[in-house]
Amino acid sequence: MSDEIKNERKIPNPDEIRKEFENFAKERFGDKVQFFTQSMGPQSSGVEKDVTPDEPEREEVEEQLAWEFDLTPKQVKQHLDRFVIKQDEAKKALAIAVCDHYNHVSACHENPELAETSFSKQNVLMLGPTGVGKTYLIRQIAKLIGVPFVKADATRFTETGYVGANVDDLIKDLVAQADGNLRKAQYGIVYLDEADKLATPPAQGGRDVSGRGVQFGLLKLMEESEVDLRSGNDIASQMQALMDFQTKGRVEKRVINTRHILFIVSGAFNGLKEIIQKRLDQKAIGITADPKGKEESEDNFKFAMTQDFVDFGFEPEFVGRLPVRVNCEFLEAKDLYDILQDSEESIIRQYERAFEAYGIRITFEDEALKKIAELASREKTGARALMTVCERLLRNFKFELPSTDVSEFKVTAAVVDEPESELKEILKTAKSTENCGHRNEIRKFEKEFAAKHRLEVTFSSEAISKVISRCEEKGISAKELCQQILASYEHGLNLVKQNTGQSHFELSEEIVDEPKAYLEKLIRNSYQ
Ligand code: ADP
Repeated sequence: MSDEIKNERKIPNPDEIRKEFENFAKERFGDKVQFFTQSMGPQSSGVEKDVTPDEPEREEVEEQLAWEFDLTPKQVKQHLDRFVIKQDEAKKALAIAVCDHYNHVSACHENPELAETSFSKQNVLMLGPTGVGKTYLIRQIAKLIGVPFVKADATRFTETGYVGANVDDLIKDLVAQADGNLRKAQYGIVYLDEADKLATPPAQGGRDVSGRGVQFGLLKLMEESEVDLRSGNDIASQMQALMDFQTKGRVEKRVINTRHILFIVSGAFNGLKEIIQKRLDQKAIGITADPKGKEESEDNFKFAMTQDFVDFGFEPEFVGRLPVRVNCEFLEAKDLYDILQDSEESIIRQYERAFEAYGIRITFEDEALKKIAELASREKTGARALMTVCERLLRNFKFELPSTDVSEFKVTAAVVDEPESELKEILKTAKSTENCGHRNEIRKFEKEFAAKHRLEVTFSSEAISKVISRCEEKGISAKELCQQILASYEHGLNLVKQNTGQSHFELSEEIVDEPKAYLEKLIRNSYQ
């Protein structure tokens, strides 16, 4: 505790920061500089000069859209389907909310008077366990629309001792994400995770003052407020103001209006299901003596009402500003398998790229994917566990295989069951080489050959091992050897293509010793 107090004392307050700047500026520039405060008047305690700074001017936020919004909810959902598995209801609700929001933004741009009419912003409250795609959905939406996106944890604003963590910082982060472009930032998306931590149930001895304060702060932002990006107590703002004054003779106010910023608030909301269940049970008892509740309990979030959130510990005004409720479902093993198989950004692609960097082609047997998904589902951290499981299984393979001549690695069910002994098996027959550059060169050669001749060639893993040992014997590069081997292949392979329509050729190890005979055999076979 005493350490905390000491730490807090070390952090200067805005006045002290200003003083430090004054001293620094005086030392560096003498009396030529003037210092001023947020109220923009010259400092009485600062250097006295007969200069009256101009009235502050607001930097114009061009009311111009940086992009055209012309998507339909179906198009947004179709885009999300490429990446996010399951969560169909969430995708639909989000797609509608996002389209409504940005259509309204576009309409306000066409007709600024519309901005003054009442419009209930489609801010979203997202519920669901960890790792099921809440952040991923919003990130993909922001990317699709092309607006800046920031994510922050609500706990950041309640932690005592976090200097300067006030909700306005979210907007400053958004501006930073937009590279300082206010025009872009004013249409951005703010995602606040772990919002459930802001609640304190009244039953637990009254409300947590800081959590409540943050809710009210957010409420104002979500509605509409003007955030001054040059708050007095951050050093960057002071520096910028100082430089502006030096160059322009005045300080421009940088203010952003949050009217068009979309807010997404999310959390796991543990305990909310029970509150909903209780209400449902009470209602059922009122109507019938047979309360049906059990079968609904897994799916209770669907029935969440404003009062449930208030009972959970939220301020009614806060929940009221979050009209779109989105429920993300728990992911079963089957869903995790679908993520591995079908998501465009599945970590399988990541592993393919990681091994490819060493010239190793990794493939996953279907049975292995099912087992990985099954193991991940036991971790109860949603799709995040897929990475955890794969890392654990494949870490040693990633460490050992690049230093061998292995060029193909098939992840089988046995690899998932017994990774250690499978690795030992592979290493028994593999030759050790530190030169994975050879393998890379071979893969590169394959790609170049395909691009140049429109003929796909792949060396089998045995062929690759042979090429590598030849290279080491002869002291030549793999590229050179491949060029020698396939020097006269273009014409021959085109002949085969004409005869059979085949355009992909898997080259076996025979090609390394007898390239001519190998090609002749291919051509002969093509005539049969
Ligand atoms: P949270 O629900 O806690 O916000 P995230 O969206 O951050 O979880 O998910 C973590 C990662 O897991 C994502 O970056 C994504 O790679 C993967 N993921 C999670 N859910 C899904 C899903 N439904 N479909 C595809 N990938 C997912």
